[in-house]
Amino acid sequence: PVKTLMPITPRPSLVFVRGEGTWLWDEHGEPYLDFVQGWAVNSLGHCPPAIREALNQQASRLISPSPAYFNAPAIELAQLLTQHSGFDQAFFASAGAEANEGAIKLARRFGESSGRFEIITFKRSFHGRTLATMSASGKPAFEPLFEPKVPGFAKATLNDIDSVAALINDRTIAVMIEPIQGEGGVQLATTDFLKELRALTFERDLLLVVDEIQTGVGRTGKLWAYEHADITPDIMTLGKGLGGGVPLSALLATERASCFQYGDQGGTYCGNPLMCAVGLAVVNEVMQPAFLAQVQAHGKYLADQLRALSRRHQLGEVRGQGLLLALDLARESANQIVEIARSNGLLINAPTSSLLRFMPPLNVTRDDIDLAISKLDGAIRTAHELT
Ligand SMILES: *Cc1c(COP(=O)(O)O)cnc(C)c1O
Repeated sequence: PVKTLMPITPRPSLVFVRGEGTWLWDEHGEPYLDFVQGWAVNSLGHCPPAIREALNQQASRLISPSPAYFNAPAIELAQLLTQHSGFDQAFFASAGAEANEGAIKLARRFGESSGRFEIITFKRSFHGRTLATMSASGKPAFEPLFEPKVPGFAKATLNDIDSVAALINDRTIAVMIEPIQGEGGVQLATTDFLKELRALTFERDLLLVVDEIQTGVGRTGKLWAYEHADITPDIMTLGKGLGGGVPLSALLATERASCFQYGDQGGTYCGNPLMCAVGLAVVNEVMQPAFLAQVQAHGKYLADQLRALSRRHQLGEVRGQGLLLALDLARESANQIVEIARSNGLLINAPTSSLLRFMPPLNVTRDDIDLAISKLDGAIRTAHELT
């Protein structure tokens, strides 16, 4: 085992040295079909040509002029994102948690004149690992950690509008929600609930913040997951798939909500042209109607195959949208299946001990899906024979 890296999570002893598209290779040359993809990060797969070209071109032009100056890729990416969403301004950062910190700060800034600062979030939500975003998260495992938490977050129940209404008081400024709780087990906020939430937040003069770090940039088959509910939030955060594998995140806001003043927000790498050039390459490709139609088609195909697998092995439901899918095993065998699948050359993730999550690249092919399903079929059979 590696002793010089801090032990932040149990990791297999594999060392990955190369990636291409849907595939990863370890140091011994063994191939793995990768349905984790950096945690729904590699929108276009490993080392796609579009990203390699963007990095090469931008690296020989300009890497970091300082956030105190404008640069062309940041301006272009902000234009692209705002033109194709309901938002007017963007702030770029590196990690998703940083974008969410920005959203929390923006909401608090917005509420300052009326003395409001509380943000309603949801049980089982996940918003990141900084102190404030851990405090905002409703992940049970975070509860005992790093006390005292940052105050000002109240937790409602997903898809229960009364639980949100009951938490609103004269200090409340915003509601923050993942359209699909990814880490929380691929739990969908229903379309009706999102509509009710938008109506309630309008009525009570609250900002609606969507954390689309996992669901944004085509993952659910639309460019933004909030489009499925036909609502217009005030603030959105992006990360993961936006950079397609490089550290890039974004905070977007409507003109009304975009209220930072000089000195409120910043960061050394915020909006650096190297990462923004990659974001442009990724979004330009994902945005194409034919690309998004294929995400929907392949998402449906993968979901159908998972349902057939579930019937065959008498497992639970298949949940999710687009290419963010989960198979409920209805028993505690997820970690075992993940290990067996890995030894058979398939990488998948278990967000809980009874759930498997699938996050292939958005340009995954039907052949890749068929191969993954057949490897998974074998892994489930082996795991359930053993128990
Ligand atoms: C991954 C994730 C984050 C945190 O992003 P990092 O880049 O790991 O900081 C926040 N919110 C959601 C919904 C996520 O899936």
